[in-house]
Amino acid sequence: KLHDRLPNIEHNLQMWVEQCKQQCHGGKVASYIPELAKGNKQALGIVMMDAYGEQCSAGDIQTVFTLQSISKVFSLLLALMDNGEEIVFHKVGMEPTGDSFNSMLKLELVQPGIPFNPLINAGAIAVSSLIQGSSQKHKLERVLQFFRKCAHNDSLQFNEQVYQSELHSADLNRSMAYFLKDNGVLEHSVDDVLDIYFRHCSIDVSVKDLARMGLLLAYNGTDPITGEQLIPKRYVQIAKSFMVTCGMYNASGQFAIQVGLPAKSGVSGGILTLIPGAIGIGVVGPALNSKGNSIAGVELLEKLSNAYDLSMF
Ligand code: GLU
Repeated sequence: KLHDRLPNIEHNLQMWVEQCKQQCHGGKVASYIPELAKGNKQALGIVMMDAYGEQCSAGDIQTVFTLQSISKVFSLLLALMDNGEEIVFHKVGMEPTGDSFNSMLKLELVQPGIPFNPLINAGAIAVSSLIQGSSQKHKLERVLQFFRKCAHNDSLQFNEQVYQSELHSADLNRSMAYFLKDNGVLEHSVDDVLDIYFRHCSIDVSVKDLARMGLLLAYNGTDPITGEQLIPKRYVQIAKSFMVTCGMYNASGQFAIQVGLPAKSGVSGGILTLIPGAIGIGVVGPALNSKGNSIAGVELLEKLSNAYDLSMF
């Protein structure tokens, strides 16, 4: 159990959250999607959850935020379940880029023009095009349903304001999608594919939802609280590998050294991470560092990992 494995955790989390909050003023809330600029720069919160549903938490855990890039892990899982590995990896590669999440730089490098990996924007857009459904509406319903199952929370919703805000400020993502279409990577309408991508990025969650989703990955796709197998183990292993190599943008190498856990961050300031076979962790702190990761969130995870020797490596 969480409290046995991590002695004094409640007390330590409280203390570290107070300390790490000092970092918030050195970060910036993402503003290229105008609605995200409303995020609370001072907020920092964490929830940890174990297989018995036991939780410990500290800080601003009521903060609601959109999944943004964290959703890419789960859209990949859904696309793998819908299509299998061969089809998915025909459209997207397996290697980190070392570039920022929205970079177009390497799009021309891999033949036949497929994005390097599913966690950069271009790769996630390619993955969104693989989600199955009899109509656009059906695809969106399947996406929301899947996220609800993974978070074990039927009240998850798309955030309409954030969705609209991104839709109207997406020239870069749109240009990547057209590039992919021209290369034959996208086979459907660019607008429909982007609609799915922006929608899954705009799902509202709390840190508790992230912790529950992390727990599912920690247990290789079988929800340890309900016993239900939601995702095949092989696909969760693929997703966690990408989280280690590309989950924290172009700071993934540094994060692997300093924290040593599979993780995925989003520009809204969320971080989903996990202790394999044990605990799901959700963090939020909307003030970001220069790489786009929660500045206080990363520091908090570093303290946690170092204090309890949690690195996988
Ligand atoms: N929806 C965001 C975008 O496409 C996701 C970016 C992120 O969280 O890294 O720009």
